[in-house]
Amino acid sequence: MQNEAREAWMDWLRDAHAMESQAETMLNAQIGRLENYPALRMRLEQHLRETEVQRQSLERLFESLGEDASGIKAGMGKLMALGQGFAGAFASDEVMKGSLASYTFEHMEIASYTALIAGAEELGMAEAVAVLTPILEQERAMAAWLAENLPPLTRSFLARAEADLEAKR
Ligand code: MG
Ligand code: FE
Repeated sequence: MQNEAREAWMDWLRDAHAMESQAETMLNAQIGRLENYPALRMRLEQHLRETEVQRQSLERLFESLGEDASGIKAGMGKLMALGQGFAGAFASDEVMKGSLASYTFEHMEIASYTALIAGAEELGMAEAVAVLTPILEQERAMAAWLAENLPPLTRSFLARAEADLEAKR
């Protein structure tokens, strides 16, 4: 029973790793396309650096739990296809579509790490709790930043559009 529970939890950890790989792809695509929104771009760049470290932390955790790291990377292909850019990349309001997608993505990450941490506590995996808790905090901070900055970003988008400046990205 304990083994089955642990296996379920390890699957969630693999999913979290695939999610972070997808986050890297998405963030890279958004950063590469943004031109007129420097505050958003800087925050996305900061979160991209955090995301790379998160992915590496998950890989180290996976290995320290006695799992073969090639297993965690095997799951990457599955979500990789979804991470090719993001759905709104060619919309005329791409910066808005991207921000909504980021807001959604951060909340999926918050949910994933909340479940992983609760599971690790239940299964007595203190080391995993210690690794995952600071990651959850970074996802919460990113989600909070997006929530706070969505109204000014929206105003900035509309002001640029009204002034016939490029607003799209
Ligand atoms: Mg993340
Ligand atoms: Fe994130």
